[in-house]
Amino acid sequence: MSRLHNFSAGPAALPEAVLRQAQEELLDWHGQGASVMELSHRGKAFIDIAAEAERDLRALLAVPDDYAVVFMQGGATLIQALLPLNFAAPGQAVDYLLTGHWGEKAVEQAQPYCDVRIAASAKGSGYSEIPALSQWRLSDDAAYLHITDNETIHGVEFADTPVLDNVALIADMSSSILSRRIDVSRYAMIYAGAQKNIGPSGIAVAIIHPQLLARAGQARAPILNIGAHLKHDSMLNTPPTFAWYLAGLVFKHLKQRGGVAAIEAINRRKAQRLYSVIDDSAGFYRNRVVPACRSRMNVPFFLANDVLETDFLKQAASNGLIGLKGHRVVGGIRASLYNAVTEASVEALAQFMIDFAQRKA
Ligand code: PMP
Repeated sequence: MSRLHNFSAGPAALPEAVLRQAQEELLDWHGQGASVMELSHRGKAFIDIAAEAERDLRALLAVPDDYAVVFMQGGATLIQALLPLNFAAPGQAVDYLLTGHWGEKAVEQAQPYCDVRIAASAKGSGYSEIPALSQWRLSDDAAYLHITDNETIHGVEFADTPVLDNVALIADMSSSILSRRIDVSRYAMIYAGAQKNIGPSGIAVAIIHPQLLARAGQARAPILNIGAHLKHDSMLNTPPTFAWYLAGLVFKHLKQRGGVAAIEAINRRKAQRLYSVIDDSAGFYRNRVVPACRSRMNVPFFLANDVLETDFLKQAASNGLIGLKGHRVVGGIRASLYNAVTEASVEALAQFMIDFAQRKA
C-alpha cells in the first residue's frame, strides 16, 4: 500500500518521516521497554518529551520568554469557550471579527458568557474577503478582539497581523500556525487545534501573554481554568500523551527542514501553483476569494456544477489524490496545503486539474 497525495483539511497529512519514526519507536520508546502510549505522564521520560516539544515550539515561533505555552485537550473549540471564561468578566463586551465559519463558531462558544459584539463581518460577501480595518467597530470596553487568522472552510487568510493599538488581539491559528513567520508579540494570545500543522487531533496549543493570564475571568471549574493548566505544566489531568509526543516529532522535523521561514517559502510556492492553475483555467475552476485574502493553506474552488465536481473527485481519487471534497457548508472542492503536503503532491494535483479541464471544457 503506497501513501496517496493527501489534501485533507484536518485531520491532515503528517510528514512521512515522522510517521516512520513513530512506527519505529512504537513498541519500545528509547529502551523504556514500553510504548510512549504506555508510559506515565508523571515519569521522567514523558516529562522530558513534553518539555522538549514546548522548547521546540517556542524556538520555531520565536515565542517571547514571558509568554506562556499550554498544551490542552478539547481542541480549538474548547479553547474558544475558555476565552470568555478566563479573560472576560461576566457579561463584559468582547469583539469578534467574522471572516468565515470558524469565527461564527467562536462566537457561539463565547455567547453564553459575555456580550459578544461583531466588530465587522464579511458574511454579506459570502466570506470572500476580510473587511477593511477602517470598517471595524471596536468597543472601548471589550475584553479582547478575536480573529480567525485562516478560515479553513472559506479559504480566507490574513496576509499580515492587523495593526491595532491597545487591543488584546486573540487569533485562532488552527489552520495556519507554523506555516509562516509571525511576530508573536503582536498577539495577546494565539491558539490552534493540532490536527493540521502540528500533529494528530486530540491536543491543542495556546500561547498567551502574561497580562491576559492575569485577568480574573469568571467563576469556572479548575479544568476550565487556563491558569490552573499552566500551574501544572499542562498536566492538570492526564494529557493526550501520544498526540503530544507526535507533535514534538513534527516540531523536530520542521526544525530539521529549516524552520518556519523555510516552510513559508515552500508553502507560498505551493499555493501560487494551485491558484495559477485556477486563474489560468478560463473560468473552468473558480475561487471566490479576493486575491489579497486568499488562504495559502486551504484552497477552495468550484466547477460549473455538482455533476462535474463529483466526477472531478472520483477521477482525482483514482489518480491517488484524496481529501479534496469541500466542506459541507460550502460544497465544491478544497485542497488543503499544510506543511506536510509536499510540492510533488501539489504538482500532481495541478497536472490532474489541467488535464481534467482540457478533457471536460
Ligand atoms: N478553528 C479553525 C480555524 C478550524 O479549522 C477548526 C477545525 N477545523 C476549529 C477551529 C475547531 O477545531 P477543533 O475541532 O480542534 O475543536
